Amino acid sequence: MTITLEEALAELRKARKLVLTAHQNPDGDAIGSLLGLGHMLQALGKDILLLLDDDVPTRYDVLPGHELIQKPEEGKTYQADLLVVLDASLDRIGAVRDAVQATILNIDHHPTNGGAADFLYLDGHRAATAEIIYQLWELSGVELTLPLAMALYTGIATDTGFFKFSNTSPFTMRSAARLLEAGVEPNIISEAMEIRPYSHVKGLADALQHVELWHEGRAAGVFLSYEQMQEIEATDSLIDMLRVIEGVEIATVLKYKEEGKARVSMRSNGIDVSAIATKFGGGGHKRAAGCGIEKPYDEARQELKAAIDAALAPTDKVDEAQAALREAAGAGDPTQPSAAIGAAAQ
Ligand code: 5GP
Ligand code: MN
Repeated sequence: MTITLEEALAELRKARKLVLTAHQNPDGDAIGSLLGLGHMLQALGKDILLLLDDDVPTRYDVLPGHELIQKPEEGKTYQADLLVVLDASLDRIGAVRDAVQATILNIDHHPTNGGAADFLYLDGHRAATAEIIYQLWELSGVELTLPLAMALYTGIATDTGFFKFSNTSPFTMRSAARLLEAGVEPNIISEAMEIRPYSHVKGLADALQHVELWHEGRAAGVFLSYEQMQEIEATDSLIDMLRVIEGVEIATVLKYKEEGKARVSMRSNGIDVSAIATKFGGGGHKRAAGCGIEKPYDEARQELKAAIDAALAPTDKVDEAQAALREAAGAGDPTQPSAAIGAAAQ
């Protein structure tokens, strides 16, 4: 059932013991939301446990409280009043879902969230789940400490590409400004987020050897088999290199960390890639989405490319229709203005 922000806060206040979690393959928003809400609930005197079914990359060591995040112990069950699932639908939290026995409150900003939780607070207009936690903080009356502010700033900054993506709103900037007032040093966060081991930079170079363009240069992808992944360290930043290629409207990375199980990331400059991801059982946002495909390499690659072609096709047709219109208007040469189109444009 969907609830309001005030009702979400009331559920948090009502619970005494809470387990907080976020999605596997955690990003800055997953970790920032988790730690941010954790700090806020600690200030409210709650008994909290931060569980995440994945390793936390060391770049998040800059955030106070990162050491509190634990992996669920195999075979153990955790009892709590409330399980809070952040920045993801329930299918992306791995073993935490079955390990924790509690009512589930899901707080998310992914429009594709199917709403399987007992309580869902979803705001698809917020750039980051950390923006929603910021709103909860505003309502809570808790002091804005530096650890809380650093966590929320990290979530907001990373999900907006450090304030440059289309999801960056006046609210994003106002909340970031407030977090800076609380003492966040933006360079400390951005430097910590950007830092990479040498092997990642080398892996990026190796992976880029495999970039391919198709659909008249409107799609770009790197497709790495399980065998190639034994040699190449392909990291999440690879997609950002493909996204910026001139003329590219959809960029994708498909890679096998496990045999038979492809992970797919997609980015676009406007075409809805979450619709493509949803076809494969994934989701995300219009311009950034992902999914898993449990198929062999050739099949997964072909199906993904076909789905991207299909998403690009309607705009092919616009060109064709425009050409047909021009022809009907008697303008054989498209470089010459047609009287009919000119009139229509007035
Ligand atoms: P990324 O490519 O950075 O892994 O993910 C891009 C966006 O798509 C993020 O907002 C992420 O949460 C979402 N996303 C990635 N993989 C999946 C998935 O398997 N399922 C769903 N529902 N969303 C995903
Ligand atoms: Mn997010």
